[in-house]
Amino acid sequence: MLVSMKTLLQSALKKKYAVPALNVNNMELVQAVFSSANNAKSPVIVQVSPSALEYSDKLIPAMVLEESKRFPKVKFALHLDHGRSFEECKKAISLGFSSVMMDASINYSKKDSHGNHPARKFSDNVRLTKKVAAIAHRKGVSVEGEVGALGGIEDSAKSRVHLADPFEAKEFAEKTGVDALAIAIGTSHGAYKFKSTPKLAFNVLRETRKLVPRIPLVLHGASSVPKPIVQKARKYGLNIGANAKGVPMSQVKKAISLGVCKINIDTDARIAFAAGFLEKAKQDKGSVDLRKYLGAGRSAVEKVYLDKMRAFGSKGKL
Ligand SMILES: [Zn+2]
Repeated sequence: MLVSMKTLLQSALKKKYAVPALNVNNMELVQAVFSSANNAKSPVIVQVSPSALEYSDKLIPAMVLEESKRFPKVKFALHLDHGRSFEECKKAISLGFSSVMMDASINYSKKDSHGNHPARKFSDNVRLTKKVAAIAHRKGVSVEGEVGALGGIEDSAKSRVHLADPFEAKEFAEKTGVDALAIAIGTSHGAYKFKSTPKLAFNVLRETRKLVPRIPLVLHGASSVPKPIVQKARKYGLNIGANAKGVPMSQVKKAISLGVCKINIDTDARIAFAAGFLEKAKQDKGSVDLRKYLGAGRSAVEKVYLDKMRAFGSKGKL
């Protein structure tokens, strides 16, 4: 059942668990999300990025809505990940999304000399997010905003890291009326998040939680990049470095205990899909039945999703 993200996250906030927010950009990922959520009896946020929309036109969100009919008990939100402009958010709402992220923390239309998108002024971030919230809330659609800037690349979300300021987070939440707030605490998009043992800024999280107790917090760039999956992907030919590193699950769990209610997962599913696909392709030499490979990718991703639902505590929360 399609619900607003606010509904899902307010329950998570009360019961202290996090809802996995899973990025989809093909049919197999859409199927894996719903079958896993159904098996684990977990609520789920199905995310589509603007570039996935560009890749598929309207097909991906249509597929999500169609597949959800087979699993009427699964409560899910259809969420636009990293909306880059008012227009993109408006378009998503018209396509039936029940939630949008307006990421006005950085300016996607500009690039600095290093090729990074520059941070937006706080006042501009507030103004743009508030504008999206005004049209979204009229239609019962939830809104996620972001303060601070994450590192790394997630589709076109490329920026330089700077940690969120808890006082800004409070002011931002009050002025914009967002339903969920992404705060940068040192995580990063992609598979190469850290050179050494990562240390998330839990003090920023703690302070923000104190100042903004009723708004669910969101963690981006929180894939764990598990070693066994990376090793398998490498074994079957994916050119991913052995030094790929994510956020250890122990730190993700600590973030949940400090009030994070939505955790975005994309990279882990991508690596698992590639590993499953490539392994099958290697074993099934000569077969050109793509469904065999895509199906193997789908099974690998289902395992990742189930692990996340268990670890985040959303399992059994439908
Ligand atoms: Zn993100």
